[in-house]
Amino acid sequence: MTDGHGVLLVGLWIIVLLACIGSQHLPSAIGSDDARAVLLCALLLNIALSLLGAIRHRRLLADSRLCRTLEARVQTLASRDPLTGLANRRTLAEVASGTMITAARRGLSIAVLTVNLDNFRSVNEGPGHEAGDAVLVDMAEALTALIPPSATVARLGGDEFCCLMTFDAGRPATVDGLVAAIMARLTRPLAVGRESIRRTVSIGIARTEPGDMTIDAAMRRADIALSAVKKAGGDAASWFDAGMGRELAVRNAIEAGLRTAIPAGRIVPYYEQQIDLSTGRLAGFEVLARWDHPTDGILLPDRFIPIAEEAGLVSDLSMSIMRQAFEHAASWDPGLTLSVNISPGQLKDPWLAEKILKLLIETNFPPQRLEIEITETSLFDNLALAQSIVASLKNQGVRLALDDFGTGYSSLAHLRALPFDRIKIDKSFVMAMADDPECTAIVEAITRLGHSLSVPVTAEGVETAAIAGRLRALGCHKVQGWHYGRPLDVQQVRRLLADRSLLGTARAA
Ligand code: C2E
Ligand code: CA
Ligand code: CA
Repeated sequence: MTDGHGVLLVGLWIIVLLACIGSQHLPSAIGSDDARAVLLCALLLNIALSLLGAIRHRRLLADSRLCRTLEARVQTLASRDPLTGLANRRTLAEVASGTMITAARRGLSIAVLTVNLDNFRSVNEGPGHEAGDAVLVDMAEALTALIPPSATVARLGGDEFCCLMTFDAGRPATVDGLVAAIMARLTRPLAVGRESIRRTVSIGIARTEPGDMTIDAAMRRADIALSAVKKAGGDAASWFDAGMGRELAVRNAIEAGLRTAIPAGRIVPYYEQQIDLSTGRLAGFEVLARWDHPTDGILLPDRFIPIAEEAGLVSDLSMSIMRQAFEHAASWDPGLTLSVNISPGQLKDPWLAEKILKLLIETNFPPQRLEIEITETSLFDNLALAQSIVASLKNQGVRLALDDFGTGYSSLAHLRALPFDRIKIDKSFVMAMADDPECTAIVEAITRLGHSLSVPVTAEGVETAAIAGRLRALGCHKVQGWHYGRPLDVQQVRRLLADRSLLGTARAA
């Protein structure tokens, strides 16, 4: 029985009781039957209303208690990171304004530390997500224990942590001391179940000067310092310096340039020959992006593809390159194939297959002449989505190659996860075959693996006839590299094809 029911029963009992008492005593007091009846009704009504009020009051009290509990829960969820209980990004922003005021009043600087685990992904993918969570919780506990009481630590997302602390601008060694303690504590192996997880961390540090910089600007600088540490191999800490700022300015200029270069068609396809090793014939081309820059000449993709990926521009860039390449190749010999590189970010786009198939239809390029190259890293984030994209493309006859095999995980599980039509051995092993027996052994092992899975193998980075000969002996199917020619622009390809009578007449490029 609920509280409400209880109150109701007691109420009814009182009504009955009062009604009995009232009917016995009222007649003598009042005298008339009518007046007595009216008074009795009024009395009963009064009691009933009081009871109803009491019940409603209790309900409202309970409701408001529930609301307050829910509100507190929502506030905790909105301000704390649920896994570690640390402040989240929003709370850090609120705390930061208070820290700025305190620092200004006391003439102190603020140090911002961005702390990041190296290769955290390998913990989630190796020992598993539970181990990954344990590492994050331990990291949060360590940071909380090490920072001074007036400092704040927050988890900004993933394995990204941030500490804010005030310090005397003349004594940056206090910050260095804390950083050294964090590095020492967080590089200790962590026991999770039966596993002992080894980890290293990278730390970027930046400071505000009294009265000049905002925390946001300091956080951006700490992030830049962190990226510099990561780029140099991680497992270290570094203060932000002006040189890193210049690097950021160059990066931003490239991003801004890409925003106009892509729609203007200034990112153009170059073509690298792919040769069938058994016949020595030209089989097709790998499409490689080049930026035809108005002042800097032809820029290589390493300068701009990673930035295009970060800035979310790689899909537009890729579609523009593919459109140009399909239009060019439509007039070449129909036996020639095109291999295009698809970056990891593109495989997170659920519409990728539709976009490519639409482009094939619009340019009238047969899907059977297209091969897409993806790397193992593309498969980490969302394997199921990658599988569905690949299935849609393969249904239409597009083929699939696993690029840069041998670097990264080189896992058989990844090879089996998707129906690859080709494995491409990374050029670093092929180029080193001449003087590194270990690389020769790797190339041999990958070629054998390809044979046992009945998946043909391409070797890239073939720079000499001698290496080509050894690859042929190993049973490699296709090759590409400087020995066969540097990547060519479309006019150079047309001349090469015209010389070999491989230029169709279907359409002019
Ligand atoms: P990748 O897919 O591994 O492409 C092969 C790279 O090796 C190309 O560099 C090619 O020029 C170079 N290469 C080929 N043979 C040799 C050789 O014998 N010796 C040497 N030293 N190098 C050789 P490139 O054109 O600079 O491209 C670099 C990377 O940029 C590519 O590596 C690919 O990951 C990426 N990339 C290029 N174009 C595109 C594109 O359109 N979209 C995407 N997402 N990535 C692209
Ligand atoms: Ca490639
Ligand atoms: Ca490659």
